[in-house]
Amino acid sequence: MNQDVIIIGGGLGGLFTGALLAHEGLVVKVLEKNATIGGGLQTFRRGNVEFETGMHILGGFREGGTLRRICSHLGIMENLAIRHLDADCMDEITCASDGKTYRIASGRNAFVQSLAEHFPHQQSKLHEYVDALYNIANEVDAFYLRPSSTGLPQHSEHFLWSADELISHYISDPRLRNLLPT
Ligand SMILES: Cc1cc2nc3c(=O)[nH]c(=O)nc-3n(C[C@H](O)[C@H](O)[C@H](O)COP(=O)(O)OP(=O)(O)OC[C@H]3O[C@@H](n4cnc5c(N)ncnc54)[C@H](O)[C@@H]3O)c2cc1C
Repeated sequence: MNQDVIIIGGGLGGLFTGALLAHEGLVVKVLEKNATIGGGLQTFRRGNVEFETGMHILGGFREGGTLRRICSHLGIMENLAIRHLDADCMDEITCASDGKTYRIASGRNAFVQSLAEHFPHQQSKLHEYVDALYNIANEVDAFYLRPSSTGLPQHSEHFLWSADELISHYISDPRLRNLLPT
């Protein structure tokens, strides 16, 4: 069968994009170079211990969240076993350099507050950084299941920066930079 779209890379991005396009009736082929699809979603075992290669939590599954909206649209929500995270601690990071453990809260303001407790001098910059992330996400119509207004997407300069560049632009404290997800 002829393909309408070929996607290179079977990580979460390629798989969701392929699923959305297939849902729209396009014939999609996803090419994955590794033996297993999933990209950063994969896990591996050593003895009885399972290790994540990257992702260990996924945001956006609460009511009104982006992934909940996309999975509902694709009709796969009921196939997923979701366990919600603690709102006041979605992630806990222990830094080898200072031996401290940082508890990261979920939600736009709570996320900033939990980090600002340790880095009060960076509070306003943390807000700016999080605002920038929301603005970048807002540039992707598919993320919100919005029809695109133009044929060719136009993106801001920030959109094209690497995660490191974006973090360094807003956050000057090197310890805080290391805690932020890239
Ligand atoms: C240590 C770590 C922890 C993380 N924790 C989280 C987390 O808890 N929650 C979260 O949401 N995100 C987390 N992330 C980020 C998350 O892993 C990425 O955002 C996500 O994997 C990106 O998906 P992707 O499809 O763009 O890329 P990837 O998951 O990297 O997938 C890319 C795929 O493309 C394939 N590929 C590459 N080149 C080619 C080629 N030439 N031909 C064919 N196939 C190719 C690769 O093999 C891979 O399967 C973490 C990342 C890291 C590194």
